[in-house]
Amino acid sequence: MRLSRYFLPTLKETPAEAQIVSHRLMLRAGLIRQGAAGIYSWLPLGLKVLKNIESIVREEQNKAGALEVLMPTIQSSELWQESGRYDDYGKEMLRIEDRHGRQMLYGPTNEEMITDIFRREVKSYKDLPMNLYHIQWKFRDEIRPRFGVMRGREFLMKDAYSFDMTPEAGKQSYNAMFVAYLRTFARLGLKAIPMRADTGPIGGDLSHEFIVLADTGESEVFFDKAFDGLDPMVDVADGTDLQPIVDEWTSHYAATDEIHDAASCTVDSNDLVTGRGIEVGHIFFFGDKYSKPMNASVQGPDGDTVNVQMGSYGVGVSRLVGAIIEACHDENGIVWPESVAPYKVGLLNLRKKDDECTAACDKLYAQLTAASVEVLYDDTDAGAGAKFANMDLIGLPWQLAVGPRGLKNGVVELKNRKSGEREELSLEAAVAKLTA
Ligand code: ATP
Ligand code: MG
Repeated sequence: MRLSRYFLPTLKETPAEAQIVSHRLMLRAGLIRQGAAGIYSWLPLGLKVLKNIESIVREEQNKAGALEVLMPTIQSSELWQESGRYDDYGKEMLRIEDRHGRQMLYGPTNEEMITDIFRREVKSYKDLPMNLYHIQWKFRDEIRPRFGVMRGREFLMKDAYSFDMTPEAGKQSYNAMFVAYLRTFARLGLKAIPMRADTGPIGGDLSHEFIVLADTGESEVFFDKAFDGLDPMVDVADGTDLQPIVDEWTSHYAATDEIHDAASCTVDSNDLVTGRGIEVGHIFFFGDKYSKPMNASVQGPDGDTVNVQMGSYGVGVSRLVGAIIEACHDENGIVWPESVAPYKVGLLNLRKKDDECTAACDKLYAQLTAASVEVLYDDTDAGAGAKFANMDLIGLPWQLAVGPRGLKNGVVELKNRKSGEREELSLEAAVAKLTA
């Protein structure tokens, strides 16, 4: 993509309304713009990151055997009356009346709707286990939307729902999601720690929150430093027994302030790390909490009718954009992990008026693009200093700078945004390195 044709409204000044670094950088780097409190438009660069995160989340859900569906954002209130949550949910639910006077709502979550889909179609234990997920916008009328996309009112969530015959089978579905989450967050370049959590209004008795450490996080967290030694990229070939993996991850102490109790915490104080964290995922196993009132049952092997055992599994896809920036930035801007970066390479033409320089850039751009490397090519009239500052701000993993002085010696400069390391390479070597 040529920057001269792109829509990248970056800001030099720090926006006054943004209190935390990720919100400031998302506005400054031209990723989002606010429409109303907690409601944002995604501009081209931000949308690319959001889609990259979505793809990794999707791949890991599919790998874990979950099936993608897409449920609507608008729901009828009737199912929520059935589950008993219509009144309980309170003011966080945006309630809408249609032209016929029917009570509708903008979905804050989908347990009721998925339970209804399930109960209408699935009748036999033979169809289980089943796990259905979607990646869809939610609306929660948060009392205090803040920190940009971190606590929005409209936000993108991946939510999966598992259905099983027995609590034991339900636990296995829970384990599959637990491991999928470990892998997902690791692939996003994050260190997320699963912490025992309150089940809150969703109900049930087994739940973990996946928390990314960041000073600006909303929760205070306490965990055993033993987590440092665990590798989240667990291999999950078909048929892998996941219980030992989950046991390993849940045997160490980790809790948010909601349930941490200093008196009963058994971790040696030298081993207990405290800090702040951002919740990027939350998983629940809640048995028949919805299947019972909504009568979602299947016929078992002996012909008996059994209410299914359910779990639900959320990932804050749009919140993750902010969480990744909180974890990956420096004083000059964002430092995207390569897996989610909107472009892999920023190509800087340092002297646009120099024909040789422009010809070399055009050639590099063509070669990299032909090799499927995503390049953002700064072909604008801005000065070299401004171009470098802009590239640092938007945080692409590699910067390839081309200027007349280097070209005289047949070299260009390649900078790694994360390490700051620079090296001079021939044009061919630069292409080879970036396409390797
Ligand atoms: P929180 O305690 O932060 O309000 P929650 O327990 O209400 O979260 P869930 O209902 O479990 O959240 O939703 C699943 C995921 O969706 C959360 O782990 C979080 O990453 C994300 N999420 C929840 N609320 C918001 C929000 N207002 N803005 C952005 N993401 C959100
Ligand atoms: Mg909430």
